[in-house]
Amino acid sequence: MPGRKECKEEKVIKKDNVIYNFSPIHKPIDTVDLGEDFWVETDDCYSGQIKTEKDLRPNIDISIMDAATGPIRVNGVVAGDVICVSIKEIELASQGIMVTSPGLGTLGEMIKEADTKIIPLNGGYAYFSEKIKLPLTPMVGVLGVAPQEGEIHCATPGDHGANMDTKDIKVGSKVYFPVFVEGANLAISDLHACMGDGELSGTGIEIAGRVKLNISKVQVNKILMPVVETEEAYMVISSEKNFADAAKKGIKYAVEFLQTALQLDFPDAYRLLSAACDLKISQIVNPLITVRVSIPKHLVNSLF
Ligand code: CA
Ligand code: ZN
Repeated sequence: MPGRKECKEEKVIKKDNVIYNFSPIHKPIDTVDLGEDFWVETDDCYSGQIKTEKDLRPNIDISIMDAATGPIRVNGVVAGDVICVSIKEIELASQGIMVTSPGLGTLGEMIKEADTKIIPLNGGYAYFSEKIKLPLTPMVGVLGVAPQEGEIHCATPGDHGANMDTKDIKVGSKVYFPVFVEGANLAISDLHACMGDGELSGTGIEIAGRVKLNISKVQVNKILMPVVETEEAYMVISSEKNFADAAKKGIKYAVEFLQTALQLDFPDAYRLLSAACDLKISQIVNPLITVRVSIPKHLVNSLF
């Protein structure tokens, strides 16, 4: 019709093509442009193998767990760039899953028998039981780019992102990544309807769904690890073998940011960090531990 704007259908990347590790060798399954809104469908972390309370964690095929939809190539992005991934919307399936299983999570030795709990969602709540309902706090567990080299399992977090299980990766947040390969080769999965800091029993309320993303490029020299921006803060995301190393790496990087952003010498940036920034635990149950160091925006309005 003349004079009428065409309503462009939003791009949807289906969950048919997945990766089980982040690697520079995988061929992209789709391509997006900078500034383009697009949806990505994701399965739950069990790849849909747990549908009822009869399906137990020890009986599923673990080789197809923790699949991520992707890799998605971003046009106009090369190694050395920094991209900003905006989480615009998250849509969740109608039910989530929480399993317990011997060895799983921080108190796994206390679990004698595997057990599965299906958790229905309705009207903004997860119905944990008849008496207990939880307000939904939808988040993305796995979001990352292809690393420089090697193959890193999707369940392992790192400087390329992946299984960061950070509850601030939610609608309205932006996640900044260093780009290691042409096109970045992004992949995403592992939505949680709810999760507390630590992911203490080993899982969130695991759920399938889809996420609307928009990727832009940031004019900055480079970054060493992912940074999450929320309305209130910038958070450096650091993953290492143990808590002390993860904390130290993130703290060191946050001090560097403060030095650059506010033109401070090291002792002053270090003091300011101690006076105003928070070290928070993202997760302590994955192959590497993830922490975040949160720099409030009243200190630094814009990190990039
Ligand atoms: Ca996860
Ligand atoms: Zn998960």
